[in-house]
Amino acid sequence: MNTICLRDGYADGQYVLPPLPYELTALEPLLDAETLDLHHSRHHAAYVAGANDAVARMRRIARGEESESLVPAVARQLAFNLAGHMMHMLYWGNMSPERGQRPECCLAAAIDSSFGSYDGFVRVFRNAALGVQGSGWAVLATDAVSHELVVLAAHRHQDALLPRMRPLLVCDVWEHAYYLRYANNRANYINAFMNQICWRTVEKRFNQNKEKKYGCQ
Ligand code: MN
Repeated sequence: MNTICLRDGYADGQYVLPPLPYELTALEPLLDAETLDLHHSRHHAAYVAGANDAVARMRRIARGEESESLVPAVARQLAFNLAGHMMHMLYWGNMSPERGQRPECCLAAAIDSSFGSYDGFVRVFRNAALGVQGSGWAVLATDAVSHELVVLAAHRHQDALLPRMRPLLVCDVWEHAYYLRYANNRANYINAFMNQICWRTVEKRFNQNKEKKYGCQ
């Protein structure tokens, strides 16, 4: 299975746009090729360019070549664009051409432990995604302190960057993610998304984080 990792987003000293791990038509019926192409080659690419630009400007400011009064704006630019870059790599990786996957093994046990059942998790995640006001994300993450799984709602991109949360599954609910196919019906997009999650990728991320608490290695 082709996949995408965060390390694919950096090469030769700068952030880069990694190719999608599937064909543009592969995520039907969840996403059409036009939505996927625009989202990847325009929106995600803009976050990559914005992150590289912010890093370059910060270096120029540090050398005294640009005014230090620009630091707050450039720091915000970097946080927004770099988080956008990371979130989109997670997003591409956690969608699957295959429909109807379910969490298995240790991850399924962790979901049961934290949410009571898979259906309980879906209830929480779906409503977190539905309830984001404006642009943002729903995120399933491991809390590195409690070792529980938690669902977060994040606005914009960078509001999800909590140091102790390790994202396992992210759902983009910016309108650019779904509007061409679903118009303003975000609920239909989320329902389709829940049916095309690549749980094998989520499990890989989970296994990178997990402690012995869940009892298997
Ligand atoms: Mn997006």
